[in-house]
Amino acid sequence: MTDTGRYEAAWAARRQRYGLYYALLAALLAITVGTLAAPDRLPVAPIGVIVFAIAGMLGATRWFYRFRCPRCGEVFWSQWAQKPRITESGPQACEHCGLKGDEIPGEAP
Ligand SMILES: [Zn+2]
Repeated sequence: MTDTGRYEAAWAARRQRYGLYYALLAALLAITVGTLAAPDRLPVAPIGVIVFAIAGMLGATRWFYRFRCPRCGEVFWSQWAQKPRITESGPQACEHCGLKGDEIPGEAP
């Protein structure tokens, strides 16, 4: 695999995790709102779906903690707890080498 392909794969995987995270968050909110709005029509709370959504979000968050910079190989952003950036578009640059998210070195921005 070329260097460019390696970077593209890393950033694509990162975007997919964000997509997964927000899809699960949306599902969780929809279930919560739906249950509150029509408790009679949803007599059984879809506990399994809720547990799955929360577990999936935790899994995605854990993956972000361990996401490694495709250039320097260090953890891209290790300070989620201090600066929970997951509600934004995520960390903008590697805290070790300064590589920007979605940047592919050697290509024009
Ligand atoms: Zn780096």
